[in-house]
Amino acid sequence: MVSQAPDASLGEAASFIKSPGGAPANVAVGLNRLGVQSSFMGQVGDDPFGHWLRDLVAAEGVDVTPLSLTREARTTIAFVATRRDGKKDIAFYRNPGADAQFSLANLKAAPFENLGVFHCGSVSLSLDPCRTAQFEAVERARASGALISFDPNWRPSLWDDFDLARDLIWQMMPLCDVVKVADEEWEFVTGTADFEAGAARIRALGPQLVVITRGREGAYFNVAGASGNVRGFEVEAIDTLGAGDAFVAGLLAQLMQSSLADSLEEVQMHEILRFSNACGALATQKSGAIPALPTRAQVEAFLGA
Ligand code: ADP
Repeated sequence: MVSQAPDASLGEAASFIKSPGGAPANVAVGLNRLGVQSSFMGQVGDDPFGHWLRDLVAAEGVDVTPLSLTREARTTIAFVATRRDGKKDIAFYRNPGADAQFSLANLKAAPFENLGVFHCGSVSLSLDPCRTAQFEAVERARASGALISFDPNWRPSLWDDFDLARDLIWQMMPLCDVVKVADEEWEFVTGTADFEAGAARIRALGPQLVVITRGREGAYFNVAGASGNVRGFEVEAIDTLGAGDAFVAGLLAQLMQSSLADSLEEVQMHEILRFSNACGALATQKSGAIPALPTRAQVEAFLGA
């Protein structure tokens, strides 16, 4: 539920518009719009909002076989207000929420064979049984040879214990190949404002690529032997909601076009992040998350212009 007020806190906002989204679902739809078949794993309530979300994501071409419906809890809802500086005010209605009730038993329907990439965040780490199910899902995806992508996507309002959040995020790191962090979360996640030092800490545990999204500044990358910034595009941003997820969809779609080792060459990184920045920039030009995700044709037209 997203406030349309250009610069208001959640308390100040007078009305909210139903706006489908949620980080991993945004990435799944974003990938499909870029021509990459995706599946969404998770859980919604067996209620009107849950049915609406499932149908909407399925209509985008996302395989929803691993998406469960439950009567035990309601579909989780987030209320979002965006401030002019791009900062978001977010409150979750999730006490309990269907997503957090996703358990090991729900993994049965999930297709772990022939996966190119498995992408996840940290909202699903904040409560059990979903937390346990996520670690198991990542292990299974790794065992099947998938590239593991992680966006810590830290949402402070979902955590009573920030140290636990950080611990769980760091338990994920050794299981991942690609880690994307937004610049405003960087210091919380890594404990340093320094990009090089924080990225080195993450890469020492196994991930081969660390990317920091930096809003209009673009993105920073760090791989073995190279690091740097790839400038963002000058656009008139209307709503930055979903920009990070559009960026991740672009990044993963590009990484899947060749082997990870080839992608991590410095020249390729610049090309890949230019494409990802274009996806992010285009997503800022429409309001909402899912409705704002660009198609491949839109990204190519934007880059060619
Ligand atoms: P997150 O949504 O994860 O916080 P950002 O706000 O940093 O991520 O945005 C993700 C990406 O989207 C950026 O790296 C950039 O490529 C693009 N982007 C975001 N805001 C703007 C903007 N105002 N102008 C141009 N590009 C932007």
